Amino acid sequence: MTVQHEVPTEGAAEALEVWIDQDLCTGDGICAQYAPEVFELDIDGLAYVKSGEDELLQDPGATTPVPLPLLSDIVDSAKECPGDCIHVRRVSDKVEVYGPDAE
Ligand code: SF4
Repeated sequence: MTVQHEVPTEGAAEALEVWIDQDLCTGDGICAQYAPEVFELDIDGLAYVKSGEDELLQDPGATTPVPLPLLSDIVDSAKECPGDCIHVRRVSDKVEVYGPDAE
């Protein structure tokens, strides 16, 4: 009998999206320094993601697609985020791949 192994797809250009848990955001702005194309502080002092059209998405927990050229900047933001509140997940199954809930 053949055992089927899951082939790791790391490195494949899988569609990812990012969202911020504003309840935990400290408003320090590190994310907006790393990836200003995707993160911005609103007048309430908290960070929000932006749409591909550069529009600030002010709904708490809104998601936006991760542009591949910005992936490493966004991952660095998630790693450095003092609030541990930047979440990057796969679009297909909503599994977190970078951030506080990633395995
Ligand atoms: S790095 Fe994290 S805590 Fe800091 S502003 Fe961005 S989302 Fe908020």
